[in-house]
Amino acid sequence: MSMKNVVVMDHPLIKHKITLLRSKNTGTKEFRELINEITMLMCYESMRNLPMEEVEVETPLQSMKSQVLAEKHVAIVPILRAGLGMVDGVTSLLPTAKIGHIGLYRDHESLQPVEYYCKLPKDISNREVIVLDPMLATGGSVSDAVSKIKLRNPRSIKFMCILASPEGIERLTTEHPDVLIYCATKDEGLNENGYIIPGLGDAGDRIFGTE
Ligand code: URA
Repeated sequence: MSMKNVVVMDHPLIKHKITLLRSKNTGTKEFRELINEITMLMCYESMRNLPMEEVEVETPLQSMKSQVLAEKHVAIVPILRAGLGMVDGVTSLLPTAKIGHIGLYRDHESLQPVEYYCKLPKDISNREVIVLDPMLATGGSVSDAVSKIKLRNPRSIKFMCILASPEGIERLTTEHPDVLIYCATKDEGLNENGYIIPGLGDAGDRIFGTE
């Protein structure tokens, strides 16, 4: 499997928090906080190449040219519902990012993702899009979400997840070789129900306390 488009962010702080996230003894409040903190750390790392622009600033001593983030360039798109858990982690670092939403569920018979909601920022074609979902499992929903977003011609699309399965990476990199994947860790695989193994269970249920 090619890992050319995959960045695994195995920083010690992230690894530590993922161990806590995996534990079945971690409750909803702590789980939500950990997702938020891990997303923030990943976002910090993945934003290294954001476009900057030069402005004039006056220090108490003199004026100088200095850099700020070029405005209006990022849109984040959480995949409902678990992706919502990652939104605050990104917006705490990029407060002006616009937010789209895509809702997909997996049809029990066909096992295919079915879209039930899609609302994207109007100016998405001027933006770099970061799609959020904590779990890259089969890759079906993410791949469909990316196809949908591509119809609106954004500048680029990145995908950020916390746990990725080899199967999900394979599918997403095959169907969308132009999408860079950031994950915090790559797990062993999927079980017969499509859950990531060893994983952390159902991320949406654990974020929203619906287990
Ligand atoms: N979605 C989850 O929430 N967990 C998995 O393990 C796979 C998909």
